Amino acid sequence: MNEIRKNDIFTIEITDLSEQGDGIGHTQEGYTLFVKDTLPGDRARVKVIKTKKNYGYARLEQLLTASPSRCEARCAVARSCGGCRLQHMRYADQLSFKENRVRELMTRIGGADDFEFLPIIGMENPWHYRNKAQYPVGVSRDGRVIAGFYAARTHSIVENDDCLIQMPQSVAVLRAVMSWMQRFHVTAYDEKTGRGLVRHVLTRIGYYTGEIMVCFVINGKKIPHAQELIDALTQMDGMTGIVLNSNTRRTNVILGDTETLLWGRSRITDTIGDIRYEISAKSFYQVNPQQTEKLYRTAMEFADLKGTETVWDLYCGIGTISLSAARHARQVIGVEIVPQAVEDARRNALLNGIENAAFYEGKAEEVLPEKVEKEHVRADVIIVDPPRKGCAQSLLACMAKMAPEKIVYVSCNPATLARDAAYLRENGYRVEKVRCCDMFAQTTGVETVCRFVRQ
Ligand code: SAH
Repeated sequence: MNEIRKNDIFTIEITDLSEQGDGIGHTQEGYTLFVKDTLPGDRARVKVIKTKKNYGYARLEQLLTASPSRCEARCAVARSCGGCRLQHMRYADQLSFKENRVRELMTRIGGADDFEFLPIIGMENPWHYRNKAQYPVGVSRDGRVIAGFYAARTHSIVENDDCLIQMPQSVAVLRAVMSWMQRFHVTAYDEKTGRGLVRHVLTRIGYYTGEIMVCFVINGKKIPHAQELIDALTQMDGMTGIVLNSNTRRTNVILGDTETLLWGRSRITDTIGDIRYEISAKSFYQVNPQQTEKLYRTAMEFADLKGTETVWDLYCGIGTISLSAARHARQVIGVEIVPQAVEDARRNALLNGIENAAFYEGKAEEVLPEKVEKEHVRADVIIVDPPRKGCAQSLLACMAKMAPEKIVYVSCNPATLARDAAYLRENGYRVEKVRCCDMFAQTTGVETVCRFVRQ
């Protein structure tokens, strides 16, 4: 094969889409190119920007034939922003892309073949759904204070104060903060020099309650003109709490360790179904409230509880799945690593008068084996909802040994779900049902619920 070099130009057909949302095509000689902003069905002139031994990256130079999946991206910065990688794809096609990816991974990596694959649960209106935003604040090349989102795989800020997947309250908060910064000449943090004050603005909105929490992450201990900021923000309906988080380290980690309450309360309330939840800033909470309800409903359908079961809910966060399950089971035990989330979970059980749920703080892969060994605990159903890296193999081994009749796996990363499915299949379980739920419209993310039954 002739060597492929940077700046080479090719005309290629895009035949596939990568996990990151890049179109994939091949040169006539079979060299694979990943091309951002293209879709399967496109024919395009592309320019190579980076090469590796077996594949490379190219940039879209000219679209020659447009894929039938294409639509006009609505957001002005869709191409440069790292957030919505699929905005130029029709929503129905986004859904089939996600579904196909999950089916392919479950079959190829998971080794599962004979499972029921229920249709993906899409959104009615796939915009303005996010209840949580993390806006980096910085300085533009021409010295202005800007906020928005990081461009893909970088730390340069793409200015955007009108993100179309955020709830409107979040956008309003950002605008109020930016005008306060301008008015009082409050400086923005500069990653390169480590100087300047405001690093991030974080928002969290209760979808059903309208409550708003704002967290300022600053490079320092205090903010100037705090009262003016409070005055501006508390004019907004639903403002519930304003928190100051101090992060003076030169790191990519957003939150620092010290937090003070500037105004109001440090938790917001939201409801899912008929259960009320209080959520602290540090606790995980699903970002798409409308879809969360459908996701949990699917998890409950798959768990198919009769009221007599002992259920473990591993990676339980603030106890959302645990408390949904508690109403239909004899007892539920949740395990979660973040202390604030465990506190929230316990408080939420009390708040809802749920008495058959208990929560342990710690790593699921440590807590569960220990309880099995020392207290001989058992389970009829185990629900897991791990972060992107999936379950530790030692945890899967412990679960298989406990031999519950059903395992309901809720996953935000189909690649690790498929890997863990392969392990569970080799250790006594069969993949019976799979259903995807679109929690992340316009992006490549997808949530999947999978039901394993004991052989
Ligand atoms: N089921 C919850 C949370 C899912 S997110 C919900 O739907 O809201 C995954 C959760 O796992 C997070 O709360 C995270 O803090 C927690 N977590 C991460 N690693 C963990 C581990 N090793 N053991 C237990 N919990 C963990």
